[in-house]
Amino acid sequence: MIGDFLATKRDGRAHAPADIAAFVGGVVDGSVSRPQAAAWLGMAFVRGLDDAETVALTRAMTESGARLSWPGIDGPFVDKHSTGGVGDKVSLILAPVWAELGWKVPMISGRGLGHTGGTLDKLEAIPGFRTDLDDDALHRTLRDVGFFMNGQTAQLAPADRVLYALRNETETVPYIPFIVASILSKKLAEGLDRLVLDVKCGSGAFMQDLPSARALAEALVRVGKGAGVQTEALITDMEQPLGVACGNGNEVVESIACLEGRGPSDLREAVIRLAMHPDAARVLDSGAARERFDRMVHAHGGDLAAMDLVTGVTVEDVCAPEAGVVTRCDARAVGRAVFVLGAGRSRAEDPVLPNVGMDVLKKVGDRVERGEPIARIFHVGRGLEAARHELREAFVVGEDAEKRPLVLGHVT
Ligand code: URA
Repeated sequence: MIGDFLATKRDGRAHAPADIAAFVGGVVDGSVSRPQAAAWLGMAFVRGLDDAETVALTRAMTESGARLSWPGIDGPFVDKHSTGGVGDKVSLILAPVWAELGWKVPMISGRGLGHTGGTLDKLEAIPGFRTDLDDDALHRTLRDVGFFMNGQTAQLAPADRVLYALRNETETVPYIPFIVASILSKKLAEGLDRLVLDVKCGSGAFMQDLPSARALAEALVRVGKGAGVQTEALITDMEQPLGVACGNGNEVVESIACLEGRGPSDLREAVIRLAMHPDAARVLDSGAARERFDRMVHAHGGDLAAMDLVTGVTVEDVCAPEAGVVTRCDARAVGRAVFVLGAGRSRAEDPVLPNVGMDVLKKVGDRVERGEPIARIFHVGRGLEAARHELREAFVVGEDAEKRPLVLGHVT
């Protein structure tokens, strides 16, 4: 009975796993109404869910839809999830590196929301790229190329779609057990052996301080392992953007540079550390994974040669007001600047522009001369004044600052 279930949490008691499974089933088939589900989210947020309840919720959400399986393909099957940041294009590089190393990567990704970018938006900057391949095409691509990068199908963890929308409407998103169940239910449905999590920490991230990022990383690893998947997490800095390019199409270009052994050093470090494989640097240096990336793009219908980030785009430099050392390059403000230029969205159904964004030319600890460019804006006339304003907020030039470390923690 849904009434008893709600009263249990209202009174601060723990649920039995079978009751959580029945509730999640009811959310999906409609026998639990939206107001009842929303009420439970509010009560669970306030009263709390313990580890056993979080595991039960994750399992029930995973099992609310189809579980992907890969008959006839040899594993191991591995994927990575980032909690979201600015300039975070690691998935585009890491997936072909893993595939080159012989691992299979059935990657289901999401779109950006607010100031953070999404892998699917970046890939869709490639003309023709489809993120809705059907099951046969996914199976074929995984078998022949070693990885795919697709959107979430309607059958994958449908409970999360309903509950996430309700969390958004009821201010119950930032609660670790909900975040864990939401992230892991989608990943565990991919049929993985191994999962690497990149928990971002800093102004541009969901988790803004190290204790909260660590708490999320530890909960994700505990519950992932509890579900039988080898899971580990890195906590990485998101106080400033990752790499140079922030946007959509320009992030694809920077990812390709990194796959060719070039690209910004912090991005390369992020890929190598998250790969958790001793040969990752060698693969990047050899450029071997670049060809695999091209094959994946082709399998998704994309045409890299047709990508045009120049026509109709105006370039404007933002320059340092004085000489000194960059002491702050605030990821959230840079993310907002990219957003107002049109590269981001505030509602899931809004379109994004593929060709706008910016290059972050200086990072914390870099020396700058007066009048030297610190950022480069690529715009089509939209949001320019607001972006300039955000960048004036984002950068602080002072006397001295250490370079920021990228990796802040490793949870196994
Ligand atoms: N990403 C998700 O998929 N779910 C959350 O709850 C938070 C971030």
